[in-house]
Amino acid sequence: MSCILTVIESKNKEIKNSALELLSEARKISSKRNLDNKVIIIGEYEKNNSTQINEFGINALLTGSTDKISKYSPELYRDSLLHTINELKPEIILFSGSAIGKDLAPRIAANIGYNLVTECIDISIIEEGYEIKRPIFAGKIIQTLRFNKTPIVVSLKSNSFTIEKIEENEISIKQIDVNVSEDKKLPILREIIQPQKEVLDVSEASTIVSGGRGMKEPENFKLIEELAEILNAAVGASRAVVDAGWRPHSEQVGQTGKIVSPNLYIAFGISGAIQHQVGMINSKCIVAVNKDKNAPIFKFADYGIVGDLFEIIPELIAELKNK
Ligand SMILES: Cc1cc2nc3c(=O)[nH]c(=O)nc-3n(C[C@H](O)[C@H](O)[C@H](O)COP(=O)(O)OP(=O)(O)OC[C@H]3O[C@@H](n4cnc5c(N)ncnc54)[C@H](O)[C@@H]3O)c2cc1C
Repeated sequence: MSCILTVIESKNKEIKNSALELLSEARKISSKRNLDNKVIIIGEYEKNNSTQINEFGINALLTGSTDKISKYSPELYRDSLLHTINELKPEIILFSGSAIGKDLAPRIAANIGYNLVTECIDISIIEEGYEIKRPIFAGKIIQTLRFNKTPIVVSLKSNSFTIEKIEENEISIKQIDVNVSEDKKLPILREIIQPQKEVLDVSEASTIVSGGRGMKEPENFKLIEELAEILNAAVGASRAVVDAGWRPHSEQVGQTGKIVSPNLYIAFGISGAIQHQVGMINSKCIVAVNKDKNAPIFKFADYGIVGDLFEIIPELIAELKNK
């Protein structure tokens, strides 16, 4: 039986949330095309955490780790994956749209001679193979690609797929050879410098409090940070404030920033330009605060408050603290 192979990532030995999107999509594909649903995780991973992923109809979880590849290394991860791929010969291989996925998917496709599709937002099964959609020209056009011939390597655009769990099932967990070559001269990852303060990542957070140019000055983001802390939310930003150097690029939401899909997205002083909208339109509930009643963001917000954010944020903070 042919198989689908999904490559998932871990962080601090935990499976990343972005993996759940991949697993949901892999299950749909495997059942429609009658494929064995195999998942591979390279790097640090605790077996006990497999409970997180046993609700996605996986047949086998392949894990591989040594001290040498406990952290991401392009060459070592590539070699370890190639070893397994050459054995399994999957019909389709899924990667996430994370930094690692973006780096690894083309390396694998080039090495095994598979077709590669990146930033995919939809996969349909057609009689002869797959029909895949992806945005091009900065999201202005959706390209549809048909693959009558497999195999293919596909990376999914983060936060574009729904997470759907099914009933728990037993997964067979198999330790694989990670095939680390001793003699190759390879780059070595010496250290990962963590942010000074532990911050929530916008692309993984379930609540985001974002600020735009309407915040007027970088110091005023203290208000956003305070509200975010109370709500256990990540801080987001528009490109205008990132370009101005008020906030780090890691917080930027939008076409040239991160694509997010939290349960709640609160935007303060953000006009709602199309490039910002494409990054947060998948949020389940959007709340916009803007003093201009004609601001474009009100056209797609679920709740809108026309008013001065410098009055509204302190009131919100006071109210939430009371609760
Ligand atoms: C190729 C390209 C890629 C881009 N990528 C991105 C991207 O990834 N992400 C992104 O965000 N942008 C992106 N942009 C920029 C985008 O077009 C907008 O310029 C940007 O989003 C505007 O940011 P803003 O809403 O913070 O600022 P503005 O458009 O200046 O809006 C500020 C808003 O604050 C409101 N306001 C002011 N004072 C107050 C107050 N006291 N209380 C309440 N409201 C107030 C104003 O009414 C206004 O609506 C991109 C542009 C290009 C060309």
